Amino acid sequence: TPMDKHPDCIFCKIAAGEIPSRKVYEDDELFAFHDISPWAPVHFLIIPKQHIPSMASLTDADAALMGRIMTLAPQLALEQGCEPYPQGGYRIVINTGEQGGQEVHHLHVHVIGGPRPWAKG
Ligand code: 5GP
Ligand code: ZN
Repeated sequence: TPMDKHPDCIFCKIAAGEIPSRKVYEDDELFAFHDISPWAPVHFLIIPKQHIPSMASLTDADAALMGRIMTLAPQLALEQGCEPYPQGGYRIVINTGEQGGQEVHHLHVHVIGGPRPWAKG
């Protein structure tokens, strides 16, 4: 089934609570947690619980799920201390593939914010 975990996927294990993480949010489809190696004062990841390897794996059937991630991101960003738009804000990054900088092959959305220095990195 689509909910099957990939046995060697670290983010499947995090979503299942089998590897500890600092949880930001959870529902039946999505899990969010702080990045272990943050690039900025606010840096968390939103993942589908379902193992989708990357953006390149998406089909039309995933449109609603991806929409939920994208509408959840701004809500969680404010909860995690990002200041409101337009003075505040954050970056949303989805690294895809080797040349796209993707290291973990379970789709994840970075939400990165906090006061600038980091912003143009
Ligand atoms: P990518 O380069 O694939 O877009 O980003 C993977 C991100 O996952 C990196 O920012 C990395 O710090 C984070 N990460 C990798 N392993 C773990 C882990 O075990 N726990 C947490 N919380 N973050 C992780
Ligand atoms: Zn996975």
